[in-house]
Amino acid sequence: MQDRFKGILLTRDENKVMSVNVTELGLEDLMEGDVVVEVEWTTVNYKDGLAITGKGLVVRRWPMVPGIDCAGTVVSSGNARFKPGDRIILNGFGVGETHTGAYAAYARLKGDWLIAMPEGMDGRSAMAIGTAGYTAMLSVMALERHGITPERGPVVVTGANGGVGTVAIALLGKLGYEVIASTGRTEEAEFLKSLGASEVIHRDELSGPAKPLGKERWAGGVDAVGSHTLANVLSMTSYGGAVTACGLAQGMDLPGSVAPFILRGVSLLGIDSVMAPLALREEAWARLARDLDIAKLEALSREVGFDGIVEAAHQIIDGRIRGRVVVNMKQNS
Ligand code: NDP
Repeated sequence: MQDRFKGILLTRDENKVMSVNVTELGLEDLMEGDVVVEVEWTTVNYKDGLAITGKGLVVRRWPMVPGIDCAGTVVSSGNARFKPGDRIILNGFGVGETHTGAYAAYARLKGDWLIAMPEGMDGRSAMAIGTAGYTAMLSVMALERHGITPERGPVVVTGANGGVGTVAIALLGKLGYEVIASTGRTEEAEFLKSLGASEVIHRDELSGPAKPLGKERWAGGVDAVGSHTLANVLSMTSYGGAVTACGLAQGMDLPGSVAPFILRGVSLLGIDSVMAPLALREEAWARLARDLDIAKLEALSREVGFDGIVEAAHQIIDGRIRGRVVVNMKQNS
């Protein structure tokens, strides 16, 4: 491996003003770990956007190499599960937040955080999926565990044009669900239908204060938006239905009523990708390899090089990214 390599380093001065630096790093700049990985592919998630723009309290150790996801090849390993040459995926576990992350040519990580690249998947596809897509899969699996089958009725997906939303639509569509996509970008209706949505509604229908109970419109929901939107989704969920909550694009609050829970037996299922146990991660990635249509994944993602990361981070926070951004670390590095 190279002694010096390119990376992004977030630093803070004595007044806590953050700078984003594209710089040369060495292994000594990376935090401890028993596996060194050559980062071949990464991505820009909403959380990476928050870290690079400084808009959210994502980074909790300074200086920090951001980037919460990577796919690459093991260069050296002191972990019994991995050897040099193995292809791996890393999502979460505080990488890019409290542990130096993916936006550098190499990452030093804990082997216990890594999963082996699933059969039939490559690094580019894995990072076109990334944390957003893997969270969409965790959400779909949670609905399935709750018995929300296609026969039970439609499933609403909020934040439909975002990373979680687009992958959730593609997955649910392939699995035979009728999908209602909620978006602020209704001009993208045809794109969302091409992914698998049957109906597209404007997010304004869900973004104001919710009634305790609304008309029963869907059996399930995948919510990446939170706040009033999640409260409305719950209030419109039919008897015995379930809604997953993973995101806070509208807000972290939940200004709703207990009525859907106590009068309709609706369940709210929390989704956390960061600390999800290894067995659940492996199941989710195996399901993604099987249940996600690669042509749809191509249609919902676009590729940038290392130099495109910072711009994409700003775009995702401004709500200007459709679907997913995959980063080819070999380009411009
Ligand atoms: P994106 O930015 O790609 O998508 C978010 C989407 O939400 C936007 O595209 C937009 O969709 C919609 N949106 C944005 N602002 C608002 C608003 N004010 N009101 C209503 N809708 C809005 O992000 P991701 O899909 O990657 O992530 C979505 C959320 O999930 C984020 O909050 C992220 O932090 C969270 N997340 C949580 C994880 C976990 O482990 N719990 C893991 C991954 C993500 P449209 O244009 O269609 O309206």
